Amino acid sequence: EYILGIETSCDETAVAIVKGGTEIVSNVVASQIESHKRFGGVVPEIASRHHVEQITVVIEEALAKAEMTIAEMDAIAVTEGPGLVGALLVGVNAAKALAFAHQKPLIGVHHIAGHIYANRLVEEFEFPLLALVVSGGHTELIVMKEHGKFEIIGETRDDAAGEAYDKVARTLKLPYPGGPKIDELAHIGAQRIDFPRAWLEDSFDFSFSGLKSAVINTLHNASQKGIEYKHEDIAASFQASVVDVLVEKTYRAAIENNVKQVIVAGGVAANKGLRKAMETKFKEERMNVMFPPLSLCTDNAAMIASAGYIAYKQGHRSGWDLNANPGLDLEMYANRGK
Ligand code: ATP
Ligand code: MG
Ligand code: FE
Repeated sequence: EYILGIETSCDETAVAIVKGGTEIVSNVVASQIESHKRFGGVVPEIASRHHVEQITVVIEEALAKAEMTIAEMDAIAVTEGPGLVGALLVGVNAAKALAFAHQKPLIGVHHIAGHIYANRLVEEFEFPLLALVVSGGHTELIVMKEHGKFEIIGETRDDAAGEAYDKVARTLKLPYPGGPKIDELAHIGAQRIDFPRAWLEDSFDFSFSGLKSAVINTLHNASQKGIEYKHEDIAASFQASVVDVLVEKTYRAAIENNVKQVIVAGGVAANKGLRKAMETKFKEERMNVMFPPLSLCTDNAAMIASAGYIAYKQGHRSGWDLNANPGLDLEMYANRGK
């Protein structure tokens, strides 16, 4: 079965065709990074306008690359939330128009379910499974006991990991998006500063706002005293603090929940320091940890088609009244009716 996936929740206009939930036939991503760069972040109105301009072209390109037609699709899957409402609406309306015109099932997909299912484009899931989701808006530990079911066992109490990266990057006056830049700098820098790690006792929750403030204060105090830290040393020290907490909590959660598989998902899963530290830790403990390839870590539509395939097989169908839901809750989504 072929699923056409559409993703427009933030600043990527993406369309993909996936066969059987696991095989990418085509995967097109039109990024708007260049347009948002001069504002230092995503501007919602600009994002919506770009999606409107791009969506038809990107749908046609995905079909052309697959050498397929809409008539050959078994269903149309689309991100219904969470995300920017004006951005989501463009994808949802395009999906509704396509599905209605061609009389295909319409499947609304949760964006984070999509990030998790990016991993199923690499390897089959084994349950129970633990997913560490680290993206621009989310930092969560999620246990899955079966396909399409998500139980959040820990989440950030303030900033998301990606958000912390982007904010620290802005403090260092690095161009948007800052995550990949900090990652690069961290590899040439040294861990000279001992930034705090928010363990929050035994909880599987996270907190990154204290770390972000510590970086800002350190830079501020240093400049007052006439000390200058190298940006790469700040980056290395910051990244060490983030990675330590992510690795340690994920490992503890994996043991406590007796999981068979550990996966990492979302934009920050592209982080080289995190990938390496996870692999080292889990190897020591003779456990496997899985990451999507870099291009499937950040927003794309193949992951939406993959999650959409499972929803399709489980009989979920969205109505013609499907709407963008900027605050869509993952557990509520998982427990929705058919
Ligand atoms: P969400 O998925 O929570 O709705 P989003 O879609 O904006 O948010 P993603 O596209 O999944 O987030 O990921 C983007 C985030 O990933 C940005 O914060 C970006 O800085 C971060 N990121 C990307 N690559 C790296 C990297 N190599 N190291 C650290 N962070 C990274
Ligand atoms: Mg993005
Ligand atoms: Fe995302």
